[in-house]
Amino acid sequence: MNAEGHPAIADRYDVVIVGAGLAGCALAQALARADQRRRRSILVVDLHRGVSPRFSGEFIHPRGAQVLDDLGFYNRLVAAGAVDVDGFVVTQSGEQDDPVVLDYASIPGERPRGLSVHHKTLVRVMRQTLRDREQVTLLEGWRVVDLLRDGERTCGVVLTGTEGELRIRCDLVVAADGKASTVRKLAGVPDGRQTLGFTAGLEVTGAKLRHPLHANVILGGPGPMLCYPISRDDGQLSFRLTFDLPHALPAKGADLSRYLIDAFLPYLPGPLAESVADALHRHKGPLELAPTFNLPAPPATAPGLALVGDAAGCSHPITASGMTMGLLDAKYLAREARRRADVSADQPWLDDGSLRRYRIEHDRYVPTRQALADSIFEAFRGEGEGARGIRRALFRYWRSGERQRVRSLALLACAERRPRIFLAEYLKTAHHVLASSFAPRHALHFPVSDRLRQVQGAVGLAGTKVGVVAQVAWSQLRPF
Ligand SMILES: Cc1cc2nc3c(=O)[nH]c(=O)nc-3n(C[C@H](O)[C@H](O)[C@H](O)COP(=O)(O)OP(=O)(O)OC[C@H]3O[C@@H](n4cnc5c(N)ncnc54)[C@H](O)[C@@H]3O)c2cc1C
Repeated sequence: MNAEGHPAIADRYDVVIVGAGLAGCALAQALARADQRRRRSILVVDLHRGVSPRFSGEFIHPRGAQVLDDLGFYNRLVAAGAVDVDGFVVTQSGEQDDPVVLDYASIPGERPRGLSVHHKTLVRVMRQTLRDREQVTLLEGWRVVDLLRDGERTCGVVLTGTEGELRIRCDLVVAADGKASTVRKLAGVPDGRQTLGFTAGLEVTGAKLRHPLHANVILGGPGPMLCYPISRDDGQLSFRLTFDLPHALPAKGADLSRYLIDAFLPYLPGPLAESVADALHRHKGPLELAPTFNLPAPPATAPGLALVGDAAGCSHPITASGMTMGLLDAKYLAREARRRADVSADQPWLDDGSLRRYRIEHDRYVPTRQALADSIFEAFRGEGEGARGIRRALFRYWRSGERQRVRSLALLACAERRPRIFLAEYLKTAHHVLASSFAPRHALHFPVSDRLRQVQGAVGLAGTKVGVVAQVAWSQLRPF
């Protein structure tokens, strides 16, 4: 069919990627670069023309920035306003003069900086780059509504758009259609998604920050706040400030701005609080609001099908690692495509062996990162004495030495993915919680009942972590 206003659409492609967001675009570019002889065809389809209007991630760890660079996106993104970023600064309530600084440059062998960019700019630049690739067809404004099946094997997609319906066959369908993935559902892949709450986002220009090139995590309010640069225009930085909100929103519409001012702003450093109050007062439209989810990593492959990006698992955005995961998925799936670059064009490009190897690799980093995001989310947001104790212990642990900070940041930035390192770090933090609960110097101003509650909370959290660590181990051992 040659749909009007669209490029000619064939009825068969080697690979159909559903979703032209970050993960789908990165994968299409990576596959096209793996196919140096230009014998393969890739269709990328997205229901939104231009970009998805959703408020999404913007802060990318060095591993992800490296993938963007390797794929030829980095320079274009910087030209479009993206900002090189240095790491994280975490501030406890009431300790604004003594934050913990976690610098990417301290991780041995790692790219020293990450990248931060307005999400819509990111996707716009990526889609524009794909339009220059001859093996890639980008089809916008079409929705995948069904899968073609040959027994257990997925072998194509059914699309609907204003021009009607298209049935397209392929050797591999890739679900890059985000956390609520239609493809995942259609393929019957288990979906254990839970809604966690909401993130409200506000763009602030001209804010004064002590660490303007870091993601500033600010604790103390009803949920963590995150402030990071998202664009640079003529040397002037714009920042994103996000507020973590519970599932039952405490206020709506204009009242939400009022609530944020009252409940969160007292915890921001003075100059930033002023800029944010000003932006909230001036804000005419609704704040950008996005639901947050936890989706424990489902199996990332099935016959004729691969899952990448959020479709293959997502967590609360507190560790800012979703996009790095999606970029690593693109990198490792394309590595399999490169291995089979020379098989004859009548053979599937990515066969079952390729998918098995991709899934083994994927299961090495996604569950570990999810376990970490869960733990940090609980510690930063939890209100009980157990969570508060873990928070205090985490800060003490980070302040106890450079090595401890580097280890934690390497896990956070997805540079370290071995589950045993995650477990070791977790146990060390738990040890700090227990040690601080019984430290004699706390005896006077930390009543026994509170200490017991802290221990109880820590043991409770440790219990859930044993489950999480078991899940991490299982995801690496489970049969294909
Ligand atoms: C508030 C918030 C803040 C975040 N902050 C960060 C951060 O700072 N750093 C970070 O790394 N991550 C962050 N994340 C996570 C990050 O946004 C995601 O990991 C990332 O966007 C996932 O990319 P994706 O391409 O897998 O999915 P998406 O970005 O969701 O893209 C999916 C695409 O599929 C298309 N699509 C969906 N269904 C269909 C269909 N049936 N047919 C055709 N097309 C379809 C959509 O239009 C969309 O373009 C954040 C997330 C949220 C919600």
